Amino acid sequence: MAEKFIYADNAATTRVIDEVKQEMLPYFTECYGNPSSLYGKGRDAKHALDSARGRIANIIGCDAGELYFTSGGTESDNWAIKGVAAANVNKGKHIITTKIEHPAVLNSLKALEKQGYEVTYLDVYENGIVRPEDLRAALRDDTVLVAVMFANNEIGTIQPIKELAAIAHERKAVFFTDAVQALAHVDINVGELGVDLMSMSGHKIHAPRGIGALYIRKGTRIANLIDGGGQESRRRSGTENVPGAIGMARALEYMTSPEGLAKREEIRALRDKLCDLLLKIPNSRLNGDRYNRLPGNLNVSFEFIEGESLILWLDSFGICASTGSACSTASLDPSHVLLAIGLPHEKAHGSLRLTLDIDNTDEDVEYIADCTAKVVDKLRQMSPLYEDYLKNNK
Ligand code: PLP
Repeated sequence: MAEKFIYADNAATTRVIDEVKQEMLPYFTECYGNPSSLYGKGRDAKHALDSARGRIANIIGCDAGELYFTSGGTESDNWAIKGVAAANVNKGKHIITTKIEHPAVLNSLKALEKQGYEVTYLDVYENGIVRPEDLRAALRDDTVLVAVMFANNEIGTIQPIKELAAIAHERKAVFFTDAVQALAHVDINVGELGVDLMSMSGHKIHAPRGIGALYIRKGTRIANLIDGGGQESRRRSGTENVPGAIGMARALEYMTSPEGLAKREEIRALRDKLCDLLLKIPNSRLNGDRYNRLPGNLNVSFEFIEGESLILWLDSFGICASTGSACSTASLDPSHVLLAIGLPHEKAHGSLRLTLDIDNTDEDVEYIADCTAKVVDKLRQMSPLYEDYLKNNK
């Protein structure tokens, strides 16, 4: 076992913070009623659920009646895409998205393509950002939906959502953003942004897994994805996850409190320091935009090494990190995001994603940089490609 333990994979999931856990606990053991039950215990649970809804709505700038709890980001993404497509089929079957969306979006769209929908995938260029003029050019009279993620889960780049939503609306298309990575890390007000739908997930913001939400602007045409007993205003059935909803509300309140916002700036400074330290390693490059990215996100490629080997070595030093090459499916294909920003396969394979958050310290950053430099060097000593490179560059 390594002496140290440093968690630097907060884009994958986060620790449930103590105040979130404390506020959730009574809803497992005391206030465990079903919000649909008519007696007091049920009414108490319903009250708690409604209050969680109101607290989240207040922070993201919508009415409580426009926020629907789901099981997480994947469900919210599926619902937004399949639901809007199904409800607007009379207008058309064309959808626009980007090449760097999360698989929850891309695979929902793939399912629609099999049903005869046509999908346009926008480029994001070297900095990982969509150009508004490309969206304008891609819109058609039969475009029903534009789906552009708020911030990317691998390279952290933040899209010009307000501008993109306005362009989509000029052509009467519905605008959906997957804000799973952005929520609690950038300021979000759905009214100001002008988005019609926005997906969120609890476990990326220090609430537990199994809770998420979809914002649906009043008046947006959307079909149900999950039918059943008619919970969530008859739009998303299933007995509600009351503790999860409470936890999500508390986590979002913490992350957007003065303390949480101050931490956000500390995280940004730590990330910048780590970035500078890692880029001192020869033959390294930063992936994504230097500044227009999530505060905790860093994605760096090192030539002549495999990301998986790097991750395993870092794990042996007690560091939890991630690579873009194996993705969530354990396939050896390089990340579609890194390919979309123009990285050749060999560079995409040697990528490292570090995502810092509220627990990380200056000491962590120095330790991560130190270990990474050592491991990259060790792996390169074993690489025939690196040997060739050194010979050719003598
Ligand atoms: N969208 C993005 C951008 C994500 O990063 C993730 C999770 O990694 C998801 C959607 C899926 O969210 P969940 O894990 O809550 O299903």
